[in-house]
Amino acid sequence: MLRDLLTPDWLPGTTLAHLPLQDLLDRDIRALVLDVDRTLLPSRQATLPPQAELWLRHARERLPLHLLSNNPSRRRIGAVADSLGLPYTTSASKPRRSALRRVLQELDLPPARVALVGDRLFTDVLVGNRMGLFTVLVKPIDADGEPCRQDRLQNLELRMARWVGSVPG
Ligand SMILES: [Mg+2]
Repeated sequence: MLRDLLTPDWLPGTTLAHLPLQDLLDRDIRALVLDVDRTLLPSRQATLPPQAELWLRHARERLPLHLLSNNPSRRRIGAVADSLGLPYTTSASKPRRSALRRVLQELDLPPARVALVGDRLFTDVLVGNRMGLFTVLVKPIDADGEPCRQDRLQNLELRMARWVGSVPG
C-alpha cells in the first residue's frame, strides 16, 4: 500500500551528520546506501561540509557505503565519492528500482540488512521501502551543512504522506 511505502522506518529528526551510527549497527545494519544532494552535500555545492565528511570517514570504517544519487553530474557526485574512496551511482532514477537493485547485488546482503538514508520521502524512502531496505529520513542540510530551517519540500512531502495516512503526527 502507498502509505506503507511512504513510511520511513526511522525518522531521527537530525541531519546525516548527527545520525547515531551505533543505532544502525545495533539494528544489525551491515551497509549504507546514502543519498547525496541535501543529505551529504548542500545544493549546488561540490564540497562536503566538515561535519558530513567526519561522519562519512567514521562510517566507512565500520561498514560498506554506496552513494546513490539522482543527480546526473558524475563530476560533482564523483568528486565527493572519489575523495573518500566510495562507490557511487549517478542518474539513479529513484524511486525506480533498477539502480538500487544493482547496488544490492554488489553488496550481496539481504535488503533488510541495508539502510537507505536520504532527505526525500518520494524518492529515497519510497525506493528503499519498495526494495525492503531499512529506510531513514534525515533532515536536509542548508549551505552551511546545518539543518534547513524552512524545508518546504520535505514538509510538503510529510504533509502529503500524512494525508495518505502513513506518518504519525
Ligand atoms: Mg536528496
